[in-house]
Amino acid sequence: MKIALIAHDKKKNEIIELAKKYKDVLAQYELYATGTTGTLIMGETGLSIHRMKSGPLGGDQQIGAMLANGELGMIIFLRDPLTAQPHEPDVSALLRLGDVQKIPLATNVSSATIMLEALKSGALFDFISK
Ligand code: PGA
Repeated sequence: MKIALIAHDKKKNEIIELAKKYKDVLAQYELYATGTTGTLIMGETGLSIHRMKSGPLGGDQQIGAMLANGELGMIIFLRDPLTAQPHEPDVSALLRLGDVQKIPLATNVSSATIMLEALKSGALFDFISK
């Protein structure tokens, strides 16, 4: 299964802490991330991650293309709801495609933790097949 990890700038620390905590679980999957998020997580955890372009430069759209092709099984996208993003249309498109594909998609750290716990326990496999 392929998992995408994305975090807006003010949420980078949260996704790094999450990746550290669930490193052993995440390491079992093929990981994709937008550019800066991927670089930071790799540097902090040593996890191997396919990096797309930075989000504002098209990375969200690249992840979106994977979604449209049915390639992703899970997305953790820690978005910042309090800061205007120059690539807001890309963010909206990505979230929309996640719902089109009906894949687990967490937009805050609490939801992401529940998904990763479910992944760790094996419970998530009842819902996803990719
Ligand atoms: P980044 O992109 O990981 O390159 O910062 C994330 C985003 O803003 O969508």
